[in-house]
Amino acid sequence: MEMNAIMLRRMAHSSNMMDRSALMSRIRGRDTKPELVVRSLLHRMGYRFRLCRRDLPGSPDIVLPRHGMVVFVHGCFWHRHKGCKGATSPKSNVGFWQDKFAANVERDARNRRDLRCLSWKVVTVWECQTRDLAKLEAMLRRKLDS
Ligand code: ZN
Repeated sequence: MEMNAIMLRRMAHSSNMMDRSALMSRIRGRDTKPELVVRSLLHRMGYRFRLCRRDLPGSPDIVLPRHGMVVFVHGCFWHRHKGCKGATSPKSNVGFWQDKFAANVERDARNRRDLRCLSWKVVTVWECQTRDLAKLEAMLRRKLDS
């Protein structure tokens, strides 16, 4: 499923349209900046959580066991945030990217569905939402209280 880093870099180079930071965070995998923003916000809000439970569908980035809630922090580019400026499409290798994106979106939907079946509340935080902390905090509180 995962492409190797060299191939990714080559594709990014050939496509110019690629968001370099999205690319690099994908290669690094865990502990991306948006994820850290959400974690420290939840921490300041007084919530306790666990990270990346691999035993749960999709290995959610943040798990709040007491609230029965899991949080995914998704990059807008890779996970195709609908209507978002961050969800740009590379102009070359179009078919390749379409397949790649479709697989990501499908996998995300499947993971959300499986988690809900296991009675988890599932929250998706998009990368672009981590730039407005007040708004993000309000959203998280709403979900946690619901
Ligand atoms: Zn977005």
